[in-house]
Order: sequence, then C-alpha cells, then structure tokens
Amino acid sequence: PSPYTFPPERRRWRWCSASWYLNRLKEDDEACAAALQDAHIFLFHRLSPLLQPNGKGTFTPRTTDVQSILERLGSDQTLLKESVLIGCSEQKQAQFCLDVGDLDRATVEEEFKGKFIDLRKAFFLLREAEAPLVAKGQALLRWHQTSRFCSATGQPTTSNQAGSQRVCSSNGIVYYPKMSPVVIVLVSDGKRCLLGRQPSFPPGLYSALAGFCDMGQTSSLTFPLSARPPTCTCSL
Ligand SMILES: [Zn+2]
Repeated sequence: PSPYTFPPERRRWRWCSASWYLNRLKEDDEACAAALQDAHIFLFHRLSPLLQPNGKGTFTPRTTDVQSILERLGSDQTLLKESVLIGCSEQKQAQFCLDVGDLDRATVEEEFKGKFIDLRKAFFLLREAEAPLVAKGQALLRWHQTSRFCSATGQPTTSNQAGSQRVCSSNGIVYYPKMSPVVIVLVSDGKRCLLGRQPSFPPGLYSALAGFCDMGQTSSLTFPLSARPPTCTCSL
C-alpha cells in the first residue's frame, strides 16, 4: 500500500522514530559503523554526484554493494569509513555519502554503470525526494574536505563516524558543519516572472533573484540588496 494510506499519527510516529534513530547514529560511532555496512550510499567524485539510469526515464543517486566494488577497484575499508551520514528512511535504512575523488573517475562510472554529473545539472534528473539528500551530501562532503585542520591551532581535526562533527586533536575544539543561508525569490505579476542574469552566466541563462544572507541580516532585507545592479540585470 502507498505510505499515504497510513493514518497520519502512524506516519508521524514513523518519522519521529527514524529521526531518533538518526540522532543515535550521530552519537554512537559503533552503531553508525554497523549501519554503514548495509546502507544506501550516494557516491560523489570531486563533489559531482553519481547518477545511475533506473530504466524508468529518471536517475537514482543511491548505490548498494559499494564495499565489494571498491575492493575490486583496489580500495580497502578505510575509504568506506570516510562516508558521511546524510539521513535515513522511515524504514531506518541509513543513507550515507562518499567522495571517491582519489579513484579513477571513468573506472568507477563503468563499475557502477552510472555517470558523475555536475550537481546543478543533476537536479534536473533527480526525483524530488532525492534531490535534497544529494545537495546535503555535497555540502557535507565539501565541509569535510575544507575542515581538515583546526583554525585555532593548525592541528588535524578528526571526524566522528557519522561525520556530524570534527574535533581538534590538540585542544578538543568541536567543529560543526557550516551553513551559508541564501534567499531566492521568484517575483511574478501573476502572468510573468522577473528573472535576472549575471555577466558571468552563459548566453541565454536567467535565474530567479537570489543572494547570500550577511551576518545579522534578515532574509527580507537580503533580497532587495541582491537584486540591485550590477549583481543582476532584470528583464521581463
Ligand atoms: Zn585546535
């Protein structure tokens, strides 16, 4: 049966139960390592997600049996352990992401029968439910790749098994993944949309108006500032 045939209370309960499980995995390295063994893994190569055609005209970013394929490619358990937890299904199937940027891109694509695709292009090929997980995976992987050292002491930081934090080996400072809030607004008069473009965009590319939030700036103030020239040129 469709999950929507369950009474709402039951769905809420399953959602809460999955959230508690996810939090437990973030705090318990051993449970997290065990969950990794039969998890769904979202593979990336230098931050580009791997998409596999699923035969129904869409693409899936999830892979299984990653460990055996990585072993065939000459990689040991160490690489798999670098996986970062990104979520879990209501059935408590853990989801991780892993960047295999040190392996040969074409060989990995061949083994997994997929393609590593630029994230922005991948969004057009993914199902709605999976796109946020892929985006979260890339953001977390990027944070880990650029947070290997403590900014106070310069000493290496180490990640917990879930990848939800990194700790300085020298003074114990705990670092958490950083967020960069951004606002995007689609302005419409009901029939038409206001789009903008930056000089760096390729010809013909326009986007809804967007901008990063500055420290202490509210989201409603972010928009008019970012919509001002020369940040973007507006056209109807
Ligand atoms: Zn430190």
